[in-house]
Amino acid sequence: MPPFFYIRHNNYMKDYSNYISIIGAGIGGLALGNILKKNDIPCVIFEKSEKISEYEAGISISPNGLKVLEKLDLDERFKEVSAQPGYAVFHSNNEIITEISSNVVTSLRKNLHNILLENYLALDGEILFNHELVDLDLTDKNIYFSNNIKSNVNHVAACDGIRSICQKKLSTSNSKPEYSGYSVWRTIMPSHQKKINFHLGSNFHVVSYPVDQNKISLIAAIKDKNKFNESWKEKGSLEDLFSTIPSSIIDMYPTIKDSNEIYKWGVYIRPKIESLYNNNITFIGDSAHPIVPFLGQGGCLALEDAYIFGNLLNKYKNNFNKAQNKYQQVRIKRIKSINNQSLNQAKLNHLSNPLLIFVRNMLMKYTNVILSRTKNIWSYDISKIKDL
Ligand SMILES: Cc1cc2nc3c(=O)[nH]c(=O)nc-3n(C[C@H](O)[C@H](O)[C@H](O)COP(=O)(O)OP(=O)(O)OC[C@H]3O[C@@H](n4cnc5c(N)ncnc54)[C@H](O)[C@@H]3O)c2cc1C
Repeated sequence: MPPFFYIRHNNYMKDYSNYISIIGAGIGGLALGNILKKNDIPCVIFEKSEKISEYEAGISISPNGLKVLEKLDLDERFKEVSAQPGYAVFHSNNEIITEISSNVVTSLRKNLHNILLENYLALDGEILFNHELVDLDLTDKNIYFSNNIKSNVNHVAACDGIRSICQKKLSTSNSKPEYSGYSVWRTIMPSHQKKINFHLGSNFHVVSYPVDQNKISLIAAIKDKNKFNESWKEKGSLEDLFSTIPSSIIDMYPTIKDSNEIYKWGVYIRPKIESLYNNNITFIGDSAHPIVPFLGQGGCLALEDAYIFGNLLNKYKNNFNKAQNKYQQVRIKRIKSINNQSLNQAKLNHLSNPLLIFVRNMLMKYTNVILSRTKNIWSYDISKIKDL
């Protein structure tokens, strides 16, 4: 048998006992891989799918997330394949309430995945597809995959998303995700729109933004008693959307009929996180803090988490516990705050009481409430964090 290899269930696997094993090649996992490779820290990514996710879905990355891409020298590449809408227009009751400048970059999420992957591979990063983690033993630092392969690793970075198996295996709580009462349609359609549109309605809101020069992403969130599955792959129906969202809004998007597919996502709330690590495992992104999508921050937080934890691993070298403690200390307050704000945002967007709608619209029109809310989130600059 060659050195550094061992047989398990007739399968060979390299010895990863000196590696950080990153579970999941989403935004958080790929970003962490990039940061570790940049710092010459041995790592490997295990991804359950056969390739990187290519769902036709949009994503907006705000300045706090862009800062991470800038640190990785990937911001310009991302901007080249994306849109930079420049301003956002808020509508309510068929009128424009206000317009604000915006420096988010909007794109197809596969663009972000591909850029992160290409760079990781260029840094000689290793990724193993078709490796679905099914179990882990934190005492012996063994991880087990559905293809019967077992690997011994140095540390586990759980980047396995909203339905994290790592969380499930370690959680002592029996509480299950609860349906939030909201569902979200999403579709990509041909259009040359240059701005971001927010349409606020009673019990719904619609957001549209360009993902490149020829396509836009449209997301419609509604209050919906019927529970819908939480999945990127669940189809929705245009007829259903048309019967729920007022035609005055739908008519602004005539090419919606030309969209390839429409999908529907049931939004679920998970128990609040108390810790970002447990023993030899550290949680990053949605696996650490699944968040409702109403502020468009889940991906940005995954980028921030990855940058901070990756740099702490570099600083404290192999003292994982120090890195974990500091990571938790730096992250937890911000994560909890954005989580709460995201939940409240849906309520604000969906007001149905005419008096409250009037007050909200006046505040949006005549005060800088929107900018001050976003500033707190967007101005977070990872390069200014002390001790990184
Ligand atoms: C409708 C909608 C719109 C959104 N819009 C925005 C937005 O505009 N801006 C923004 O910042 N965020 C947005 N988000 C949130 C964002 O998509 C997530 O927060 C982000 O993808 C989280 O990244 P992650 O790396 O933690 O997880 P994921 O991107 O979910 O990646 C997890 C990866 O782990 C893999 N995996 C899972 N289980 C296993 C396993 N057992 N073994 C191995 N691999 C595994 C998966 O295949 C996947 O590749 C939105 C979310 C939704 C639902």
